[in-house]
Amino acid sequence: MAKGFLLFLMLLIHANGLAQDFTVCDDERYLTRRKIAEIIKKWPLRRSDSVTGFVRDLGASLTKQADVSHKVRWYFNVIKDYSPNAYAMGNGYIYITEGAIRLCNNEGELAAILAHEIGHQAANHFCGEDQKKQSTGVYGRIKQKIGNITQIINIEKEAEADFFAIQLLETAGYDPHAMLAVAERLPATSGSFSHWGNQQRVSLLTDMLKEIPRKAHKYSKKFKQIKKLLH
Ligand SMILES: [Zn+2]
Repeated sequence: MAKGFLLFLMLLIHANGLAQDFTVCDDERYLTRRKIAEIIKKWPLRRSDSVTGFVRDLGASLTKQADVSHKVRWYFNVIKDYSPNAYAMGNGYIYITEGAIRLCNNEGELAAILAHEIGHQAANHFCGEDQKKQSTGVYGRIKQKIGNITQIINIEKEAEADFFAIQLLETAGYDPHAMLAVAERLPATSGSFSHWGNQQRVSLLTDMLKEIPRKAHKYSKKFKQIKKLLH
């Protein structure tokens, strides 16, 4: 599957560019509300401090650079939990845990995680038939395993979000290889991030990045400051 699918994906995304023509559906709004209600019940969100502010600013900047900032109202929130996780919930809602921020060695890696989640939304993964199937599954698992939400992993969707993210990192001036660095460091058994550490995914990412030159890491004093706050 890998090579053929990758080629298809590259052609598709190159043809459309970064700006994705996604829409938010009524069922998506409803399901997102349900999923968020479950999250808030179990996990406190970090208050609007400098850590949350940094994630929100970075998320807003990435959606702008991807030319999707006007497509939906984006919400970036930090969950007070030290296990590394991140979720796109549909309707512009993206959650990242404190643990995922702690795991990042530089701003580019944090951008990579957010860009991947933005990619799920931009690729319309929450709308239509697919969403019905996926959401039912996601919601079912949320009910069973709320302390550690497990999203349904669909390798093609993950690759689509990754490919979008790589392009977005390039556009935003980050090293696209940050994507692979963070995917390799995430343990294969870490909640919904199991898909980040998934071997198939890591090899797809390696293929995607083969021809893409590295970029120097952006130095960010602010990122270092917020990392300190999480230790
Ligand atoms: Zn994903």
